[in-house]
Amino acid sequence: MNRRHAGAVIDVCSAAKLIACHECDQLQREIPLPPAGAAICCRCGALLYRNGSASLDRPLALLLAAAMVFVLANAFPIVGIEAKGNHNATTLFGAVLTLWDEDMPLVAGLVFFTTMLAPAFELAITIFVLGLLYFGVALRALPLLLRVVLALEPWSMIEVFMLGVLVSVVKLSHLAGIVPGIALWAYAALMVLLAASSAALDAHGLWDRIPAGR
Ligand SMILES: [Zn+2]
Repeated sequence: MNRRHAGAVIDVCSAAKLIACHECDQLQREIPLPPAGAAICCRCGALLYRNGSASLDRPLALLLAAAMVFVLANAFPIVGIEAKGNHNATTLFGAVLTLWDEDMPLVAGLVFFTTMLAPAFELAITIFVLGLLYFGVALRALPLLLRVVLALEPWSMIEVFMLGVLVSVVKLSHLAGIVPGIALWAYAALMVLLAASSAALDAHGLWDRIPAGR
């Protein structure tokens, strides 16, 4: 419906919006920020939002680095085991195949899903969505994709995987010589890169990049 108004017409989307603090629920008015500026809650001091103009550069760069490191993590052996003069090293996928051959399809499937498929999917969809937002590509499914990305964010389990590998390495070191492989370092770097990109990602700014009315 398109009605004519006698007085001033204010576009609700461009006027100062009310936003709720995610820590203490205090309602506050959103104001424009200077470049690289950040707004904090007037009650609890939590970070509310940053100036979104350049906020995608850092998370996108960190995520692209994480994707490269993830490829290394899957292409090279995690740990090598030396026992009685024999050296044995396997990649993560090699370990999955061994589990499958040893009649443990459920464990093999679980390892494949949690350490390879899920992180690969999460990295790919996050880079895809941030790339679309970065280049300003308008896509009808963008709000849905962004919701998926933000919902997946807390489910990154690389830290749990690293902890499991380290415990195994310490336990095995009494039985055989353990040589850390390139993939182990790559996974450690991946853990740091994902944490850094997650810290650099400003969910509030991401929503602001999606044009209104979609
Ligand atoms: Zn607050």
